[in-house]
Amino acid sequence: MKTFGRAERHPAHFALLVLVVVSLATIQFGSPLSAACLLLLGFGLVGASELVRAPDWKGLLGRALETNPAGLCIYGPDLRVVIGNEHFGAMYGLTSEQVKPGTSLEDILRLRAKVIHRRRRHAGYVEAYGDHAAATPEETVHELLDGRIISVSRRPMSDGGLVEVHRDVTSEWQAEDRADRAMQEVIEKQYAIDQAVIVGITDIKGNITYANENFCKISGYARDELIGQNHRLLKSGAHSRELFGDMYRTLARGKVWRGELCNRAKSGRLYWVDTVITPQLGPDGKPISYMAIRIDITARKEAEAKISFAATHDSLTSLLNRSALLNRAETTLAQADAEDNCFGVYLLDLDGFKGVNDTLGHHAGDDLLRQVAARLAVLTDEHDLVARLGGDEFAIVRRSGGAVAADSIDFGRRLVEAMAAPFEIDHHPVHISSSVGIAICPGHGRAPQELLRKADLALYAAKASGRNCFCTYQPAMLEAIEDEKELETELRVALARGEFELHYQPILDAASRTVCAAEALVRWRHPKRGLIPPTRFIPVAEQTGLILPLGEWIISQACRDAASWPSHLKLAVNVSAIQFKRGSLFDIVTEALLQSGLPPSRLEIEVTETAVLEQRPEQLQTFRKLRNIGVELVLDDFGTGYSSASYVTNFPFDKIKIDKSFVQGFDTQRECAAVIASAVALAKGLGIAITAEGIESEPQFAALRAIDVDYMQGYLFSRPLAREDFLQSHKAPSRVQDETAGSLRVSESGKGRRG
Ligand code: C2E
Ligand code: MG
Ligand code: MG
Repeated sequence: MKTFGRAERHPAHFALLVLVVVSLATIQFGSPLSAACLLLLGFGLVGASELVRAPDWKGLLGRALETNPAGLCIYGPDLRVVIGNEHFGAMYGLTSEQVKPGTSLEDILRLRAKVIHRRRRHAGYVEAYGDHAAATPEETVHELLDGRIISVSRRPMSDGGLVEVHRDVTSEWQAEDRADRAMQEVIEKQYAIDQAVIVGITDIKGNITYANENFCKISGYARDELIGQNHRLLKSGAHSRELFGDMYRTLARGKVWRGELCNRAKSGRLYWVDTVITPQLGPDGKPISYMAIRIDITARKEAEAKISFAATHDSLTSLLNRSALLNRAETTLAQADAEDNCFGVYLLDLDGFKGVNDTLGHHAGDDLLRQVAARLAVLTDEHDLVARLGGDEFAIVRRSGGAVAADSIDFGRRLVEAMAAPFEIDHHPVHISSSVGIAICPGHGRAPQELLRKADLALYAAKASGRNCFCTYQPAMLEAIEDEKELETELRVALARGEFELHYQPILDAASRTVCAAEALVRWRHPKRGLIPPTRFIPVAEQTGLILPLGEWIISQACRDAASWPSHLKLAVNVSAIQFKRGSLFDIVTEALLQSGLPPSRLEIEVTETAVLEQRPEQLQTFRKLRNIGVELVLDDFGTGYSSASYVTNFPFDKIKIDKSFVQGFDTQRECAAVIASAVALAKGLGIAITAEGIESEPQFAALRAIDVDYMQGYLFSRPLAREDFLQSHKAPSRVQDETAGSLRVSESGKGRRG
């Protein structure tokens, strides 16, 4: 051990040693208490050694200085080195010569200054010497050129002189620097988080202990209104108990919970937050508090809600759309059971909606649909599903409030009544009605699709039974539909197999009571079901488009048959509206005439009003072309449509045929007689011929002949006959029979009035 010193054994040395030890201890340990302890220890040591032997002051002081990890240097009242330890010199790269006792503080400072890079901290320390430097304790921190940080503490001693303690605090400073930087980072992060997100801390009971500015802002509560309150304060009621259950279970396990939550602000406004809740764990690993970081996602949620609403609702009425109804009905109907939990599925279709659209315009139609939706809203509650399926069709899925059959009938009636009350559109009352089909869950099924289909069948039945009413599904309805389906399949096969045949019903000239024409009426000779009338299969053929090939066959076959009849007999062929709209009717007719050799003047085409309903230019064109080649056009079933009279005036008909329903009511119902009388007047006024069909009795014949009906057709004269039978009865050119016997007389000139 090496010390720098020149002290001799002297009473003053003891005092100096005590002072140095106290100063060192105070500097080293910072507290007077520890200093006092050290002092006592020092005395103890010194005293004990005094008792044993004369103290070696120099040795003791030297050991005390050298064992101290700090660099020490003691200056005497003359500010010259009394003693300095090895650490001191080594710290600054000074040789023992440069710090030997007697070296002035000034010299030491000058030498030290060479290795000092800068002063890092200063507390009243002045790198000076003289009286002032010795007067007060000072502290400073230097950074040396090699990067080490040295803290220097200088204490004046009471009898003059200084004690300097130099400590290498590099690692402390670095740690402090790191801690400072970390703290700064935390502060900055906290600032950034506070700017961006909502932060709240609660204790394990959910009481809020911290709320940042954003939390206050979004919730609308002041901080002191939040702190201490339970987080339930913000509960919106939008979430299920299960969600919170899951949250608490996750957090209680010390896991992080993440989810989207809807909260209620002080104003009552709902806001959505993407939430991450992190539990802070105590020493036992159990949560002691929860920190929730939330991001306001209200705008996104609102946009999503808008998109989802648009995807699931009808834009006009804001009711559910078809796919949403099916989705939700799936869940709703799953609750159905055989007991009281029954549901009614109601399908409502407006009667005559097309008329409102056509006559008042589409905006009126839209207005009407919205009003219908509003009336449905009045009749239903929030548990019911109400949808617009498209057009004027609405559906309701409703839990029955009692005995399901009676309840559904009652609700069906209320629906029909609600729609029958006049609507006000553009300040005008508008009267429409509705038809309602009802299916019951679980009685009629459980799947929404199936129930809607059954309600649709019931709706169809309601329409067929005169509209403005409701019908509940019956299994027979499904059978009828399935029958129809079967018929459709068979119809295709029948066409390929040639199972159709034409029958002919004579038409008589009323004045001469002789046959002048025959109407071709198609029949289907079904291998199992026998002869099927056209009323049974023509509508199915029309729906499926099979009427096009079938109609083509009828025209060409009828023309071929008629070509072999006596030349004064004309042929009347029925043509469906679809053939006018979709088929190349003119080409088919001319082809049939050419192939058969039947003159066009012997052909009459019978159409019903539905064929001319749309009055499309191309239809009129076909009419004209047919007439131009000499084919006659007949308006069939006159009087059964909405405005038969207007069609007769707008289209170039040669003849009208009064429907058999009027003929049969002619002598019993005044309205029938009135329709027939006005039809006759119209025909005479237009200079066209008029036929009455369905004559079954002599009085009918006589009465109609009396009012100048030109042609007659009916069972009175003949039922439709098979081709061979008809041909057989008309081979002889003039087979005149007794009128009263209700039989036939063949005319020589069966011409229409308008040629
Ligand atoms: P329609 O063209 O009005 O034919 C007259 C219908 O009245 C025929 O019924 C005929 O048998 C029936 N009829 C004739 N006289 C009497 C009578 O005195 N009393 C009664 N109760 N009925 C009488 P059908 O043959 O059953 O035909 C029904 C309807 O089917 C036809 O009405 C027509 O619209 C359609 N139809 C028949 N054949 C064809 C066809 O080849 N093509 C097309 N597109 N439709 C056809
Ligand atoms: Mg006809
Ligand atoms: Mg008819």
